[in-house]
Amino acid sequence: MTEDRAALLAAIAEEIRVCTKCRLHEKALNPVPGAGNPNAEIMFIGEGPGYNEDKQGLPFVGRSGDYLNYLLKLIDLKREDVFIANVVKHRPPDNRDPLPDEITACKPYLDRQTEVIDPLVIVTLGRYSMARYFPNGKITQIHGQPKFDTTRAYLPLFHPAAVLRNPGLQRDMEADVKRIPELVEKVRATRAKNPQKPAKADEKPEDPPQQLKLF
Ligand code: SF4
Repeated sequence: MTEDRAALLAAIAEEIRVCTKCRLHEKALNPVPGAGNPNAEIMFIGEGPGYNEDKQGLPFVGRSGDYLNYLLKLIDLKREDVFIANVVKHRPPDNRDPLPDEITACKPYLDRQTEVIDPLVIVTLGRYSMARYFPNGKITQIHGQPKFDTTRAYLPLFHPAAVLRNPGLQRDMEADVKRIPELVEKVRATRAKNPQKPAKADEKPEDPPQQLKLF
């Protein structure tokens, strides 16, 4: 299964490498399809590649990446334990926000990555990935408050770069991250009790997930 997932993720990454579905590929140096453990129980989803990510073709490197590594260490995890992806796979010029049509064009790649990895917990980093699962959410109001569907938990967090810009958010960020292990345990137990087919990526992932009856 690990090899199957790795092969499927590699095939998606290859499609991303040659993708021209939106304008973002035109000025980017490298695609940043995502990286990490194909069998990860936790998937982090950020916004889009920045300067360092574009240069290296890897998600969350540079200062934001260092901070994310620090946060992972708080819950005894390393990069290799999780999968990290972004809403758009090529860098928006000058680190501007991704535009709605770019997010829409890139959505199938993230949908398929999520389907392949089938994580127990999806952690959104910042507004754009939060909007996939919490369409009406405001990050300042809902950070650290998970939602559940029948197979998964969704936890909205601040973007690491936002916390670096505003150290006053650091305490909340770290408290929110420390909720992740409890969510993994809950969803693992729920799946063990109620084995069922995971939600497919094309089953309206942007709809607000329903609360699990067990929680
Ligand atoms: S950002 Fe996504 S949709 Fe746009 S060119 Fe890159 S891979 Fe394709």
